[in-house]
Amino acid sequence: MDSLISALHTHFPADRVIADELRRLAWGTDASFYRLVPRVVVVIENEADLLHVLAVTRQHRIHLTFRAAGTSLSGQAVTDGVLVLIGEGFASFELAADALSVRLGPGIVGSEVNRRLAHLGRKIGPDPASIATCKIGGIAANNASGMCCGTAQNSYRTLAGMRVILADGSVLDTEEAASVAAFRQSHAGLLDELERLGQQTRADIALANRIRHKFKIKNTTGYSLNALVDYSDPLEILTHLMIGSEGTLGFISRITYHTVTEDPFKASALIFFPDIETACQAVIRLKPQPVAAVELLDRAALRSVENKPGLPPIIRSLGDSVAALLVEVRSHHAPGLQAHIDIALAAMTGIATVETPYFSTDPETCEMYWKVRKGTFPSVGAMRRAGTTVIIEDVAFPIASLAAATLDLQALLRQHGYHEAIIFGHALEGNLHFVFTQDFGDPAEVRRYAGFMDEVCKLVVDRYDGSLKAEHGTGRNMAPFVEMEWGQQATDLMRRIKALFDPENRLNPGVILNDDPAAHLQHLKPMPPAEDIVDRCIECGFCEPLCPSHQLTLSPRQRIVSWRELSRRGAAGEPAGALGKDYPYFGLDTCAGCGLCSTACPVAINTGDLTRRLRGRAQSDFARSVGRWTGEHFGAVAVTARLGLQLGHLASAVVGDKALGILSRGAWKTAMPRAGRSVGAHRGNGDPVVYFPACGGRIFGPNAAGEAQLGEVIQQVLVRAGYAPRLPQEFDHLCCGQMLASKGLAEEANASAARLEAALDAASEHGRYPIIMDASTCSVRMQEYLAGRLPLLDFHEFAHDALLPRLRLVRQAGPIALHINCSVRKSGSDAKLQKVVSACVERVIAPAGVSCCGFSGDRGFVVPELNQHALRKIRDELPASCMSGVSSNRTCEIGLTAESGRTYRSVAYLLEECSRTQTMEAC
Ligand SMILES: Cc1cc2nc3c(=O)[nH]c(=O)nc-3n(C[C@H](O)[C@H](O)[C@H](O)COP(=O)(O)OP(=O)(O)OC[C@H]3O[C@@H](n4cnc5c(N)ncnc54)[C@H](O)[C@@H]3O)c2cc1C
Ligand code: SF4
Ligand code: SF4
Repeated sequence: MDSLISALHTHFPADRVIADELRRLAWGTDASFYRLVPRVVVVIENEADLLHVLAVTRQHRIHLTFRAAGTSLSGQAVTDGVLVLIGEGFASFELAADALSVRLGPGIVGSEVNRRLAHLGRKIGPDPASIATCKIGGIAANNASGMCCGTAQNSYRTLAGMRVILADGSVLDTEEAASVAAFRQSHAGLLDELERLGQQTRADIALANRIRHKFKIKNTTGYSLNALVDYSDPLEILTHLMIGSEGTLGFISRITYHTVTEDPFKASALIFFPDIETACQAVIRLKPQPVAAVELLDRAALRSVENKPGLPPIIRSLGDSVAALLVEVRSHHAPGLQAHIDIALAAMTGIATVETPYFSTDPETCEMYWKVRKGTFPSVGAMRRAGTTVIIEDVAFPIASLAAATLDLQALLRQHGYHEAIIFGHALEGNLHFVFTQDFGDPAEVRRYAGFMDEVCKLVVDRYDGSLKAEHGTGRNMAPFVEMEWGQQATDLMRRIKALFDPENRLNPGVILNDDPAAHLQHLKPMPPAEDIVDRCIECGFCEPLCPSHQLTLSPRQRIVSWRELSRRGAAGEPAGALGKDYPYFGLDTCAGCGLCSTACPVAINTGDLTRRLRGRAQSDFARSVGRWTGEHFGAVAVTARLGLQLGHLASAVVGDKALGILSRGAWKTAMPRAGRSVGAHRGNGDPVVYFPACGGRIFGPNAAGEAQLGEVIQQVLVRAGYAPRLPQEFDHLCCGQMLASKGLAEEANASAARLEAALDAASEHGRYPIIMDASTCSVRMQEYLAGRLPLLDFHEFAHDALLPRLRLVRQAGPIALHINCSVRKSGSDAKLQKVVSACVERVIAPAGVSCCGFSGDRGFVVPELNQHALRKIRDELPASCMSGVSSNRTCEIGLTAESGRTYRSVAYLLEECSRTQTMEAC
């Protein structure tokens, strides 16, 4: 083992030092088009961890890069040194009593902070479009911003305090008097120099004015030099320089933000103008008005989304020169909102529009407009040729030049052959994004990109004195152009700052400042075609927070990155090496196949489909025939499984659950359900409904002896609500095939589904009666398979639509935990499940830190670490008073019970308990 890794092992447990080829490659990717493979990846959970990494890297003279969520677009979160992952130990959240400020760890996701602030009508200022994924460390270190925050509410402007660790291992906490006093003594030289730099800069009127001028619009090129003109206290200069420093000056260990108001009343208007110039005239008029956001879309951007549902059809017939503004106004009360709408409309009086501007207050319409606007970037990504990269550039112009600059940019893009390019942006800030696709596999194409970027930089800097990076950070991408934008004097100032904080140049070298004029053309990320279902992936990382295996093995993005590399090696005739050896476990075995990744993916990739396809390819003929036999003899399979469960209980009675769990390597769970049995039909006189009890509830019985089985409970509730349940013929021998599908045995799985369809068709008299199933994963699979041929609902959907209106419920106080499993989330029926549970219980808790439970049919038995990892936060998120939970999938409930220490059952049990008085009344 190399000495660097050994030195890390003296402090870190083995699982937090990642040195294998597969995961180093996987972590070597951020959302940019650069790739560097780290020598080692280390996960830090506290400051002591970081201090150890700093000491070891100093000793080994190696550089390091911090990584929050890795959604950076300019190449600032990749390294060939040590990649330091900010772990969950840094996800702290501490709200001030008045809610006007919040102290945050760098590892908490931005939208999670806003979720916790929402009920107070507050949020953090920075609002990057990636906020559901990116973390506070990255938001602060990139000085990220979005559609509404402008330059007034970014991290720089809303900073209230900071805890920093410098390259020499010293800690400064500006909110702790003792720390400040100690730092003033220990680092008097650094503070004196910062103070001196500030004085010199402010005294140089031309330089100071230039800095002020450049930060009037969004700017993340180079360091936040405005710190030198805005502040005289060296501590303030230091903390404000940390904002936007991209991990090159020190580590932000905690940050306190002033919170800002989140207005509850909002209205949006999508307004079309005959051309860009007219749209930009409107922007100039709107700038001083109380408008929250104004987004500009050029014709190509509009065209990229014009077929999205809900958009006015007129878009498709508009001319080639047309442009649009998406305008949002907000207020804390309804009359204020109307006033703001009136002001915005009045401001545009006399400006030519294609149609009369109209503001909608309907939340769904407004959400659709913004969703469509956010969909412009991915739409180019989704349409690109396999093997190419999608690039998003991020420039800003003085707002008065916006129209001319947009036209110039359009012309430049055309001139360089980027005909698919679109332009959109945060017009109030003069911030434009242009998106185009690029092939980096061909040297001629790289030259085309280089030539284009040179021209872009000239256009932005020489013609308009704009910003080369408005919000995405300088990274490696713009580092060679910092001096071009800022001039030598200001860039020398930046070099002095870097040398002052990091004299050995170990913190993220090559980022922000780089002497290589071609640095932006080095380490370009290959994007080889791999598999049609994932070739559209833009490696943005938006799928990661939802994935149950993220940070256990691989995330969806990392599965795709690794598979791309394996495919490239395969195509080039290179050996797959350690990557090929490790992929089956890291990539395939530990993917739950839940598809939750697709719900966050801007290009709708379900990485579970890739997993299933690859698993299928790996299946032998023998495995296929076993799969076929299983589907055809499911009755026998279920009997054998029940027998196994009975034997397990016998063994557990002797050695105990815990010992059996260890002996079976986690396959035997704490509080394992009893073995199930076949259910009998309940008689009812009411409306017929077909009920198919899925195999999970037939094999796994109730949680405790003496409790009714799921199939019995559901039928009781149906009868109580005036239905007559019908069980399909031979139902105990049938299965939807989900178990086989998850193993990649698609054909065999569909044969099972076809047999079930025939039985459901007969029982429902060709769809005359509704059909319900009681396991969400299976219900959703059958819904997809049937594609509307039969009216099939998951139990909670039927309960919501048909049972709630018929049942009189006595509500329990609770609290009760609700697990919304991945199938329910994907099918969009979560609101119905929530309503059913809320109709039964007053206090319902849906733990925010849990998405998919990772049990995934048999994964919970085969790779129990996946289920344990997915549910690692559940105990902490549930209060002690919450003793039980509900869900809608039998196997999920097994894992949830084992990992949470609470008994989870189907929502049907709850409905049955709460509707008992109805039976008594009927009696
Ligand atoms: C589709 C898409 C849309 C985007 N939209 C926007 C947008 O609207 N606005 C915008 O500004 N950006 C946007 N981004 C870019 C990016 O998401 C943001 O800049 C984001 O804030 C980066 O956060 P992160 O957690 O991913 O940080 P990372 O990428 O992990 O890190 C960012 C930088 O911060 C450094 N760093 C991280 N943590 C620390 C720390 N604790 N101390 C010191 N340095 C640290 C890293 O070394 C790196 O240099 C977008 C990205 C994508 C893929
Ligand atoms: S799968 Fe989708 S969400 Fe995940 S990295 Fe790729 S494009 Fe982004
Ligand atoms: S299917 Fe589920 S487990 Fe697999 S990559 Fe997607 S989110 Fe992760």
